[in-house]
Amino acid sequence: MATGYHGKVIHINLSTSFIEIEEPEDYFYRKYMGGSAMGAYYLLKNTSAGADPLGPENTFCMFPSVLTGVAISGLSRITATAKSPISGLIGDSQAGGFFPAEFKRAGFDGIVVTGKSQHPVYIWIHNGEVEIKDAEHLWGKNTAEVEDIVRDEFNDEQIQVAQCGIAAEKGVLFGCIINNANRANGRTGMGTVMASKNLKAIAVRGNMRIDAADGEKIREIAKNGAKKLPNSGVADLGKYGTGNIVATKNPMGYLPSKNWSSGYVEGIEQISGKTMYETVLKGRETCFACVVRCKRVVEITEGKYQVDPRYGGPEYETLATMGSYCGVKDLAAICYANQLCNKYGVDTIACGATIAWAMDCFEHGYINKKQTDGIKLEFGNADAMVAMVEKICMREGFGEVLGLGSVKAAEKLGVGKELVVAVKGGEFPAHMPHDRIGLGLIYAVNPFGADHESSEHDPVYVTASDDMAMLGLVDPQPFDTMNNEKIKFSLYTQYQVSINDTLCTCNFVFGPVWHLYNPNELVDIVNAVTDWNVSLWELMLLGKRRLNLMRAFNAREGVGREADTFPVKMRKALVGGPTDGLSIPKDKIENALDDYYQMAGWDINGKPTRITLEELGLAWVAEELKL
Ligand code: SF4
Repeated sequence: MATGYHGKVIHINLSTSFIEIEEPEDYFYRKYMGGSAMGAYYLLKNTSAGADPLGPENTFCMFPSVLTGVAISGLSRITATAKSPISGLIGDSQAGGFFPAEFKRAGFDGIVVTGKSQHPVYIWIHNGEVEIKDAEHLWGKNTAEVEDIVRDEFNDEQIQVAQCGIAAEKGVLFGCIINNANRANGRTGMGTVMASKNLKAIAVRGNMRIDAADGEKIREIAKNGAKKLPNSGVADLGKYGTGNIVATKNPMGYLPSKNWSSGYVEGIEQISGKTMYETVLKGRETCFACVVRCKRVVEITEGKYQVDPRYGGPEYETLATMGSYCGVKDLAAICYANQLCNKYGVDTIACGATIAWAMDCFEHGYINKKQTDGIKLEFGNADAMVAMVEKICMREGFGEVLGLGSVKAAEKLGVGKELVVAVKGGEFPAHMPHDRIGLGLIYAVNPFGADHESSEHDPVYVTASDDMAMLGLVDPQPFDTMNNEKIKFSLYTQYQVSINDTLCTCNFVFGPVWHLYNPNELVDIVNAVTDWNVSLWELMLLGKRRLNLMRAFNAREGVGREADTFPVKMRKALVGGPTDGLSIPKDKIENALDDYYQMAGWDINGKPTRITLEELGLAWVAEELKL
C-alpha cells in the first residue's frame, strides 16, 4: 500500500444506524485520489436518478484526499458532495481550516452517509472508531455553542466539528457546513442536506498521522514555500485578505454593484480589505500548516453592530455580496451580517446576492413594504440588509421566501426573473465576466452552478508564462476575447482546478502564475507523499475524470445543455463608473458551447460520450448513462 491514505472509508446508513468500514483497493486511491472525485463516485453509486435531494435516498459525502494533513501550506481542505437542494443536480463545496487535517488523523479517508435518522444525531470519529451519538441537545444551537458542547463532552479542545446550522434546520436551501465557527463548505446547500438527514454534526479527533513516503522532500518543499511567500502573489493576501480585491476591482469598474446593474460604487474603499486591516481587524487566522494566514478575525465592541472574533471576518465575496451588490458601504454592518451567516450556517454569497436581487425587485416596484415586513429594501440600506440576513437565517417573514435563493424566490413571487443573476440555481460570485469572459463560460457550464473557483481567470492568460505553458497554454489572449484558444484555456484550467478540488488543495496556494506552488510542484508533492510516480498528465486526467463524473451525474438526471445558460441581465448595459455602457452581447457565451463541448469530449447536448468516459476509465459510468 502506498502512503497518503488509511485504506478505510466510512459508510453510515442513518435510517438503520448501520456502520460499515469499506477497505478500497489501492488502485481506487490512485484513480480517484480523494475529495470531489471520490464524493462524485459515491454519489453516483449510491443515489439513483430522480432522488429527492432532501430525502433519505440522497447520499452525503465528505472526503479529504491523499495529501490532506501533510504539513505543507494549502493542504487542509475537505469536500462535501451530495445532490443539491438548490439545483437538483450535483452539489459540491470545499472548506479549509483544521477540520480536514483532523479528519484524516482520526483514521479514515472519507465518509458516505445515506438514509435519515429518526432524531438528531452527530457522528463521532476518533482514532479509527466511529459512533453515532444523540444530538437532541445540539439541535437549535448556534455553531459556536455546538462546538463548545461537543468539546466539553469529551473534555478535549482539539476536537474539530463540522456542522449544519440553525438556518439549515429551518429549511433554508443554501444552508452551509461550518467548521471552527468560521470556515464554510459554503455553496450548493450541503448543510441543508445534512439537516434533512437529522445529521447535526461530524466531530473528529485523532493522532493517526500518516507519514509521507519522502519526509525530507516534504520538509524541503514546505521550507521553499515559506521562503517564496514574501515575493509571491499571495503576500498581500496574507496582509489584507481577499477583501483587498474590492479596492482593485472598483476603480476599473469591475466590482458587481446594485445587483449587477453597475461595476462601480463611489466610496466603496470604506469596506476594502485595507480598511478592515486598519480598523476592525483583530488578527489573522490560518488553516493547518499554512504560512499564508489569509483568514480574517474581526472584533467590534461598540456601536449597533458588535462582532465576536470567534466568527472570523468577511472574505471578498462576502464584502461584495453583502456590500456592493446591495450598495452597502457600512463595514460594521457587513461584518455583522458575516457573523450571522457563520453563526446560523448560511452561504454568504447566496444570501447577499439574494437580498440584492430582492432590493432590485423593490426598486423596480415588483415588491413592496407590505411583503418585506415593513422594511424599505432599497440599495444602500445597511439596516435593511442586516434585517434580511436575520430573517433568512430564522426563516421568518419575508426571509422564508428569500431562504429559497433568488431563482426559486422569483418563481414563487412571480416577479423579477429577468433580474436574477444565477446559473443552475447558484448566484454569481463577485467576479464579473465582463473582464474575464472565459470565466463567464465556466459560470455557464460548471456542473454545480456559477463558481469563481472552478477555473483560472482570464487575466492570468493575457501574457505568456512558463506556468501556463505547463498546462499546454502557450498562446495568450486578451481578457475579453472568446475564441477557441480561450475555450481551451477555460477547459484546461477547469481540469487544473478540478485537480485541486480532488486533492483538496487551496486554490490560493496551488495553481499557475501567482500561486505559491505551480502544477509541476504539485506533482512533486503527490509523489513525495505517496510512493507513486505520477506526472502532470496523470493529474490532468484526474481533473478531467472528476469533471466528467459530475457532468455524468447531471446527465443521468436528464439535464445537459439547457441548463448551461447565462443570465439575461448580463446583456444590459452597466450604469456608471469606468465600465458605464458595457454589456456582454447575447450569444457571446452561448456560441462557445459547441466548441467547449467538443473539446471536452461531450456530445452536442453537453453529455459525456462513451468514448470519453472509457478514456477516463469510467466505463461503469457509461453503463449508468445507458450509452
Ligand atoms: S491560503 Fe488562506 S485559505 Fe488557503 S490554506 Fe492558507 S490560510 Fe487557508
